[in-house]
Amino acid sequence: MKPAAYSFGLIGYPLGHSLSPRLHAAALRSVDLAGEYRLLPIPPNTEGGDAIRDLLEQLRSGELHGLNVTIPHKQSVLPWLDELTPVTRATGAANTLFHRNGRLTGDNTDAPAFLTTLHTLGLLNGVTGTENEPPLGLILGAGGAARAVSHALLSAGWSVAVAARRMDQARQLAGKFAGALQPPAPLALEPEAIGGFVASNRVVLIVNATPLGMSPQAEVSPWPTGLSLPSRAFVYDLVYNPPETALLRAARAAGLTGINGLPMLVEQAALAFECWTGLSPSRQAMLDAVRT
Ligand code: NAP
Repeated sequence: MKPAAYSFGLIGYPLGHSLSPRLHAAALRSVDLAGEYRLLPIPPNTEGGDAIRDLLEQLRSGELHGLNVTIPHKQSVLPWLDELTPVTRATGAANTLFHRNGRLTGDNTDAPAFLTTLHTLGLLNGVTGTENEPPLGLILGAGGAARAVSHALLSAGWSVAVAARRMDQARQLAGKFAGALQPPAPLALEPEAIGGFVASNRVVLIVNATPLGMSPQAEVSPWPTGLSLPSRAFVYDLVYNPPETALLRAARAAGLTGINGLPMLVEQAALAFECWTGLSPSRQAMLDAVRT
C-alpha cells in the first residue's frame, strides 16, 4: 500500500554538498507524491555501525521507505543485508537499499545509470567494435565508481583498462572481473603506462572515476600532464562540480566531446526512486532542480 508520505534518506560521510535531497524532492513532485529525503551523516566508526543498523531496522519496519548509501559505507553495509542484486554482487558495493518481500535488499544503480546515459545521450552511436576487438574504454581510478563503470561496460560487450595510482588497487579491480570474457587490463596511472596504452589508437572512451578536478581543486586533471588525449575518444567525467572540469576543458581544446557526471547522478537517483516507489520520475525535472 502506498504511504501517505514517503520517507527516504542518504547514509554517508561527509554529506555537506549532497544534491540528493533536491533530486528526490523534484522526483516526488514530478509524480505527485508527498515525502521527505533526509541527509543522515554517519562517520565510519563503531557508533556509526550502530546508527546504520538502527536505520536498517527502520527500513525493515516500514518507518523508512528507502535509503541511499554513499562513501564510506557502500561496501561495509553489505553484510547487514538479506539479499544483494546481481549488479551489487558484481561490483561489491550498494548505493540503494529497500525492503521487499520481507528482505532487506542492496542494489547498485550507478552501473545501469552510467550505461543508460551513454545510450540515451546517443554517445554510443557510431561506436563499433568486432568480436575480436570490442570497443575499448580507459577508466581512470579503481574505486567504487570505477567498479560500477567496469561492470557496465563489460556487460555491454566492451573491453576495459583501469588505471590507478596504486597498482594493487587496479589489479584487485581486474581480479573482481576475472570471469569476464576479456577481464580489465590493470595499468599504472602514470604518463609512460597510459601513453603506451593509448598509442594503439583503440581507446574510444575515457572515464574519470577519480575525484580529481572536483571543486575546490577544479584545476586538477587526472590525465597525465603533457600527454595528448587519444584522438577518437569521448571523455566522460563522473565529476559534475564544476560543470566543466579541467579534463573536459582539455578534451574540448583537443576537439573531443565529453560530458560531466550530472546526467549519471540524475539517472542513478531516478532508478533508486523507481525501486522505492515503483514510479518513474521525470529526469528532466530532476536535472532542472540541480542545474540552477
Ligand atoms: P572511491 O571509491 O574513493 O575511489 C576513488 C578512486 O580515485 C580511487 O582509485 C582513488 O585511489 C583514486 N584517487 C583519489 N585521489 C586520487 C589522486 N589524487 N590521484 C590519483 N587517484 C586518486 O570513490 P568513488 O565512489 O569511486 O568516486 C569517484 C568519483 O566519482 C568521485 O568524484 C565521485 O563523486 C564520482 N562519482 C560520480 C557519480 C555520478 O553519478 N556522477 C557516481 C559515483 C561516483 P586511492 O584509493 O589510492 O585514493
